[in-house]
Amino acid sequence: MTHMDKLHETVPARPGLPHASALAKVPRVVVVGAGIAGLAAAAALGERGVAVDVVEANDYVGGRVGGWPDTLDDGSAVAMNRGFHAFFRQYYNLRGLLRRSDPHLSALTAVEDYPLVDGEGRRDTFRGLPRTPPLNALMFALRSPTFRLRDLIRVDGMAAAPLATASVPGTYHELDHRNAAEFLQAINFPDAARHLAFEVFARSFFVKPEKLSAAEMVTMFHIYFLGSDEGLVFDVANANFDDALWNPLRKYLEGIGVRFHTGTSVQSVSLGDEVRVTCGPNEELTADAVVLATDVAGLRHIVAASPELGDDDWRARVADVGNAPPFVVLRLWLDRPVNSDRAAFLGTGGRPPLDNVSVLERYEREAAQWAARTGGSVVELHGYSVTDGDAEVREGLLNRMYELYPETVGATIVDERLLRREDCPTFGPGDFDRRPTVVTPDPRVVLAGDGIRVDLPVALMERAATTGFTAANELLDGFGLAGHELRTVPNRGRSKMLTRLVERQEGRRK
Ligand SMILES: Cc1cc2nc3c(=O)[nH]c(=O)nc-3n(C[C@H](O)[C@H](O)[C@H](O)COP(=O)(O)OP(=O)(O)OC[C@H]3O[C@@H](n4cnc5c(N)ncnc54)[C@H](O)[C@@H]3O)c2cc1C
Repeated sequence: MTHMDKLHETVPARPGLPHASALAKVPRVVVVGAGIAGLAAAAALGERGVAVDVVEANDYVGGRVGGWPDTLDDGSAVAMNRGFHAFFRQYYNLRGLLRRSDPHLSALTAVEDYPLVDGEGRRDTFRGLPRTPPLNALMFALRSPTFRLRDLIRVDGMAAAPLATASVPGTYHELDHRNAAEFLQAINFPDAARHLAFEVFARSFFVKPEKLSAAEMVTMFHIYFLGSDEGLVFDVANANFDDALWNPLRKYLEGIGVRFHTGTSVQSVSLGDEVRVTCGPNEELTADAVVLATDVAGLRHIVAASPELGDDDWRARVADVGNAPPFVVLRLWLDRPVNSDRAAFLGTGGRPPLDNVSVLERYEREAAQWAARTGGSVVELHGYSVTDGDAEVREGLLNRMYELYPETVGATIVDERLLRREDCPTFGPGDFDRRPTVVTPDPRVVLAGDGIRVDLPVALMERAATTGFTAANELLDGFGLAGHELRTVPNRGRSKMLTRLVERQEGRRK
């Protein structure tokens, strides 16, 4: 029996018929985008007997968590993907999706430690922390070189109260107008520990803290640390994402009748008696409804080219959803191994342009095979929110690797791949109110993706999965079909006493 936070939240499934075969006509839905959000929507619809077509621009599925085979210059077959991803234990809906084709989640392996090192070499670790808040925070503070107990005492309790009483959307109403950097300053969050907050939480949104909504960061603290007892321990895929996750899930979906059209880009959507999804000059799919599960730039393009979608206000809101600045993923195949004590994943702060380093042979089957055969190492360096060109970023990342893992200085780079992308959404101060939601002005059009608003405590991959299921649930409800239950971490502070205390103090202040 796997552990689940006993305080977790359940969003019940809406009632309805169990299968579309009981309807006079089987509904048809086109899902645009085969990232996590689109795959979740396809699963939720397909399982109720809805006829689903998934259209994906790439020739692989998985979106930002996609993977594909590659061949190095020396002829070796290797695996490549969009970069390291942490699958946290509180990703209940994503895990539910993956269980469709992997009931025991055997494709995921735990990474027991997740050290963080700052510019001065101070290390924080999450190994062996108690899972339950606030004990986890206290223990962390007690042993952290950057966040000491006396720092914890100096934190302004009242200003910091939103951290202990977070809920969605309440936290956004309270804090979305402020930025994350200013919030941490206001609560007296110790300077040295900033790297921690930023590297773990803010930087995973690919932006600098001044550009991140304080509400988004507080919600992240809640999801990953203060509001959940799943701990910060996470899992990683133990083989490349295509093999481990998406090929099996695609096979499952095809088994329930879902049709995939990969390498096909949707250009526009029009609404008449039917929904028409245009993919090319002679390519059109008709349906009863459409799920737009693209990244935010994809959504902006489709909506701009589809004048019949939504009303003026909604169209303006879609046009306003921003992208975070570009990021770079540099994967290196080195001719010699890194030291045996190097962590599978290391988060870094204060060492621009580097944000994290992973050593792939520690967890990924294909990299382990390559390393065993050649005696080398496969190392991946991430840099988020980059402003320089590829050559400068590459050089900066390599220099940081040499500094942190000096044994790589003399290593020959057998081969390398550098990806620069800009497809993550941004969560700037004040964005929340106008962020497009799953539901749109037309009930036949729903949205999903990690840039779409859903009033539940979820983020990143789990927001993608949760919005995908939510979008499908909306359509299923309209068809008279049963929905799917969803789960999240508690949508309130864990401590009733603390919540009451804060409410009382706030009452007095008013
Ligand atoms: C380097 C990196 C590391 C990350 N690490 C983590 C992590 O550790 N933990 C975590 O939770 N999250 C992480 N994330 C975030 C995570 O990848 C995303 O939150 C999640 O994958 C988003 O899924 P999605 O389905 O919303 O969007 P996407 O994965 O972007 O899927 C959208 C799909 O739509 C397709 N598309 C776009 N336009 C069209 C069109 N016109 N026609 C057809 N198809 C179209 C795209 O090709 C894409 O496949 C990371 C992201 C990156 C980039």
